[in-house]
Amino acid sequence: EPAKPAYRRILLKLSGEALMGNLSFGIDPDMIQRMAREVTEISRLGVQVAMVIGGGNLFRGAGLAQAGMDRVTADQMGMLATVMNALAMQDALEHHGAFCRVMSAIKINQVCEDYIRRRAVRHLEKGRVVVFAAGTGNPYFTTDSAASLRASEINADLMLKATKVDGVYDSDPMHNPDALRYDSLTYDEALSSRLEVMDQTALVLCRDNSIPLRVFDVYQPDNLKRVVMGESVGTLVKR
Ligand code: UDP
Repeated sequence: EPAKPAYRRILLKLSGEALMGNLSFGIDPDMIQRMAREVTEISRLGVQVAMVIGGGNLFRGAGLAQAGMDRVTADQMGMLATVMNALAMQDALEHHGAFCRVMSAIKINQVCEDYIRRRAVRHLEKGRVVVFAAGTGNPYFTTDSAASLRASEINADLMLKATKVDGVYDSDPMHNPDALRYDSLTYDEALSSRLEVMDQTALVLCRDNSIPLRVFDVYQPDNLKRVVMGESVGTLVKR
C-alpha cells in the first residue's frame, strides 16, 4: 500500500524569485514547469494544495518607492505582479493535468475569481489547486503575510515556505560559512532574534493561529513531496 501524505491541507508560499530561475527578471519557463509538476504530484497524492506566489521577480513596492514612486501605487503594482505569476502558475499546472483556480484579493474578475473564503475551501475539497493572488489586497503588506493570513483562514495543517536555502540559519549561510541550521525553533525565538524567516507580521499571524511553518529548499528536486510525506526537510517553526 502506498504511503499516505502526512497533511490534509497545506499552503505553499513561493517567492516570485523562485520562478525566476537563472533570469534576472520575469518567469523562467523551465522553472515554473518544474514547480507545477511537483505541485501536481503532491496534489495527486490527495493533499489539498493552496498557494501564494510573490511578485518580487517582477515588481516590489519598496523598490519602486525607493526609485521615487508613491508607495501605495508601487504596492498596487507589486500586487498586480503576483496576479501575473499566479496566472502563469495556473497555466503551468493545467499543462500538467492539475485543476487550478486563481483567486485574487483585488477584483479583476474577468481574469480570475475574486477571493471568497468559502469558495476557496470548496475548490480545495474538490482537489483543485487554489492560487491566492494579489497578496492581502492591501499595501504595506508582503506576500508572506498574505500566506499566513490565507493559511489561517483555510485552516491549513502546515505552511511551507520555499526558499533558496535549506532552512533557517542563525546567520546568513551565503556569507557566513559557519552558520548553523536549526532543525526546529519557536515563533517567539524567530521573532526575538529577528531571524530572517519571514517578516514579523507574518510570523505573529502564524504563531497566534498555531500554523506550523516549514522552511525548505525548493530548488532541491522532490523536497516538496518529502515535506508532504512528513519528512523533516529544512526547518520547522512552531509555537
Ligand atoms: N504586496 C502588497 N500587499 C500584499 C502583498 C504584496 O502591497 O498583501 C506588494 C508589495 O509591494 C510587494 C509586492 O506586492 O513588494 C510583491 O510581493 P513580495 O515582495 O512579498 O513578493 P516575494 O518577495 O515573495 O517575491
